Amino acid sequence: MTALRERMIRIFYPNRCVICDRALPPGPVVCEDCTPKLLTYPKGRKAVCPICGFKEKDCTCGKWRYYDRSVFPVYFEGDMRRSVHAFKFNGRLDKAKPLAALIIDVLHQRDMLPGIDCITYVPMGKNRLRKRGYNQAQQLAHAIGKETGLPVDDLLYKCQDTPSQHDQNAIRRQGNLLGVYEPYPDKLDAINGKRILLTDDIITTGATLNEAAKTLLIFGAKTVYVCAAAGRRRQIQNPKASS
Ligand SMILES: [Zn+2]
Ligand SMILES: [Zn+2]
Repeated sequence: MTALRERMIRIFYPNRCVICDRALPPGPVVCEDCTPKLLTYPKGRKAVCPICGFKEKDCTCGKWRYYDRSVFPVYFEGDMRRSVHAFKFNGRLDKAKPLAALIIDVLHQRDMLPGIDCITYVPMGKNRLRKRGYNQAQQLAHAIGKETGLPVDDLLYKCQDTPSQHDQNAIRRQGNLLGVYEPYPDKLDAINGKRILLTDDIITTGATLNEAAKTLLIFGAKTVYVCAAAGRRRQIQNPKASS
């Protein structure tokens, strides 16, 4: 490639910091200014809980949850809040790959990749999916799968959108409940005994990931790890100061 052509490509397709969107030379996915925000950044690393992924002072391990461990590279605050919002609502699907790279980095650091058989994602209701055109959690799952070689599978769907051909009675007899999510009837073997990584856009201590993880466990998943582009802290003293 000629130098001029390379320069033109950089101008038209600049590599951007996945957090603040500033143009960057090709290579890194996060700019120098944003690097210290990464929870994997060497200085902050020691202070991060290896189980829930929050900094020790924000650790959520005392709260009941269904998944074994959670992983996210950055807090859902400041520029990262805008970045995830753009990815989620404004069609910025170009962010899936760099966000996945950050998540994979944390999975590497905690040596979790060998403990994962397959990746799935928190499903979205059919109507919302039709409106938005994509499920950002699914985009993340596929980006992580592509980079790591781990298989990605559609395991769950949102109940209100029950596909008509599925035998609901057979499914309901297997579990006892269920809540918001259910497994596709032909995916029960893909869940039973498996170690599953479940993706979403944001991890909170809230119900969505818990519900999806619970469903996977009820249908026999051996472990459920969850990961997301960002983690939301419950209490932020001064949100403006954290950006
Ligand atoms: Zn940046
Ligand atoms: Zn913790």
